[in-house]
Amino acid sequence: MKFKKPRGTQDLLGKYMKKWRSVEERVTGVLQRYGYREIRTPIFEMSGLFVRTVGESSDIVTKEMYTFNDKKGRKLTLRPENTAPVMRAYLENGLQRQGGISRFYYMGPMFRYDRPQAGRYRQFHQIGAEAIGLSNPAIDAEIIKLSLDIYKEFGFSSLQVRLNSVGCMKCRGEYMILLREKLAEYKSELCDDCLHRAEINPFRVFDCKTCISVKKKLPIITDYLCGECSEHFEELCVSLEGMSVNYLLDPLLVRGLDYYTKTAYEIIHPELGAQNALCGGGRYDGLASELGGASIPAVGFSAGMERLMQILPDELEGKEVDRPDIYFIVFDDKCSIQAMILADKLRSADFVVYIDFSMRNIKKQLKSASVREYDYVVFIGQKEIEDKEVTLKNMKSGNQVTVSFEKLVSYFSEKGVTGIE
Ligand code: AMP
Repeated sequence: MKFKKPRGTQDLLGKYMKKWRSVEERVTGVLQRYGYREIRTPIFEMSGLFVRTVGESSDIVTKEMYTFNDKKGRKLTLRPENTAPVMRAYLENGLQRQGGISRFYYMGPMFRYDRPQAGRYRQFHQIGAEAIGLSNPAIDAEIIKLSLDIYKEFGFSSLQVRLNSVGCMKCRGEYMILLREKLAEYKSELCDDCLHRAEINPFRVFDCKTCISVKKKLPIITDYLCGECSEHFEELCVSLEGMSVNYLLDPLLVRGLDYYTKTAYEIIHPELGAQNALCGGGRYDGLASELGGASIPAVGFSAGMERLMQILPDELEGKEVDRPDIYFIVFDDKCSIQAMILADKLRSADFVVYIDFSMRNIKKQLKSASVREYDYVVFIGQKEIEDKEVTLKNMKSGNQVTVSFEKLVSYFSEKGVTGIE
């Protein structure tokens, strides 16, 4: 083989892909029940969109963007995140004219040139939601609850939220001066990256995974919140408590992106190791004006799909995944039409049916069904057609039964993949 997939990317296939789809569908159901509607923006955008919003001093912009020139010399970037593109689309399509809150969700690939490791990829997938148009903390609470409900859908009902407020431009003024002074004091203890961060955007030192002891000695933003920001934060906490959301105040939590204001949060899974963040989000009231629009308040989150897949069991419970996938073994050419008629009936009842038209010997077709991870094999030959019944083989248990053509659909519908012998 001359070619391999690029480092940090994955081929999603087989049963994993089936599970992935089913997870996407269930997550979509949760998002839609909250009134969020899907938005699909381009996979690449003008580079300036990210440089401007994510921030020139951010790791994403300085190190991680996949940027290229097109044939006309335009500078484009594979999206490293999707909040700025969604806001760009909202403004470009004049959606603010609709008034009220615009609620969007998206899912799709993002690209960051980061060092690959367990749970960290260069092409990864995010599911996210953005609520644009409201400054009331009730919508921050909705976003946090919604993101938790995604995990609850799969049985994770006690995940912890880490919560902070990063204030607004007003509160950051005085705080930043103090932060710079303190960082100058601890200069000798900072890593090279943080020395640079301290110069350009000192807030980012809190993102550092190595300068932990310095971080603990720094002043915290929540002590410097202006009246409006502290009121917002208090109201949010009251709403979360009202909904029995389990949260922990974490004054060291800042989001890696520049446009966040007020609320910042993360959902952590304790067993994921170094890359333990399942989801992150917050308020970004500064983004719309940064893009040249009016000042429009907004809040959202983004959840890693690979990390959600990682914490789920191999076999998901639920109707879609319990439905067996069925493999038809056809004995000779004369049986093809009958196989297609039966498969049609099963497909109309939403079953997946793969017909093997290769006419290879049974052993080879059985092997093919097994490597493709089909749950059932249905044998169709001349004798079956004469008797109007097929033999089914459960690939897991090896058990075989005979079922009439007429009862084939109801047989699978009634028992599902687990119950059948
Ligand atoms: P961020 O956009 O950095 O706030 O990330 C939001 C979520 O996306 C994180 O909590 C992770 O679950 C996921 N994520 C971010 N970067 C990666 C990556 N390189 N590989 C896999 N998942 C990621």
